[in-house]
Amino acid sequence: MTFTTQRLKKAARIILIGAPGVGKGTQTERLLARFPQLASISSGDLLRENVRNKTSLGVQAEATMQSGNLVPDSLILDLISSEFQSKGWVSSAAAPTISSSASFILDGFPRTATQASNLDTLVPVNFVVHLVTPPSVILSRIASRWIHEPSGRVYNTDFHTPKVPGKDDVTGEPLTQREDDSIDTWKQRLHKFEETSKALIEHYHKKGCLWRVEGDTSDEISPRLFAEVERRFC
Ligand code: AMP
Repeated sequence: MTFTTQRLKKAARIILIGAPGVGKGTQTERLLARFPQLASISSGDLLRENVRNKTSLGVQAEATMQSGNLVPDSLILDLISSEFQSKGWVSSAAAPTISSSASFILDGFPRTATQASNLDTLVPVNFVVHLVTPPSVILSRIASRWIHEPSGRVYNTDFHTPKVPGKDDVTGEPLTQREDDSIDTWKQRLHKFEETSKALIEHYHKKGCLWRVEGDTSDEISPRLFAEVERRFC
């Protein structure tokens, strides 16, 4: 998808909340392309970078991340606040003042109501998007994914079909589908999301900055999301 760009007149501090597979990453990429003043921070990427560089934080977080659990709030808050400082978005952790122009999307943070409360004291978010796609639709999307394992090429039997059914376009080798694996993992992650997101959504609902958008595909959701960002910030 290609988009014309738009200028923000007011600082946009955005969070996307949604079940695994709903397309948060896709919407983030599209928002960054549409509104070039936005930057994004991904807590998962920051953690993985710390693990790779074997920082003390990375060493502490590694086992928890591997088990699929959430790392402790205190650790993730340290990480995010130092990232905000290094980007110049807040002046100091001791007495934070927000840079008035900073506009950003946070990806993967906050994940809990405690993290959200802490973020309020650091950089108050002003637009929280709750992305909703029925789980049955996400599930059928995962089930229609086929992979050419050696190259990592991904096909989808609904909208990106291989030229020859079941065969890779380039090599002609068979495509595989680890359906049970990926569906089971997705169900576990969905369960965890449902457990923790209730309090998070309630937190932002009370603050009056929650906006819900529902659709079956990312293409259906993007135009509505763009229009809402423009209405609020342009
Ligand atoms: P992600 O790439 O967002 O799925 O994050 C990968 C892993 O990093 C998660 O499974 C968690 O272990 C950890 N993680 C990322 N963000 C957070 C967060 N906000 N709070 C706690 N743990 C997190």
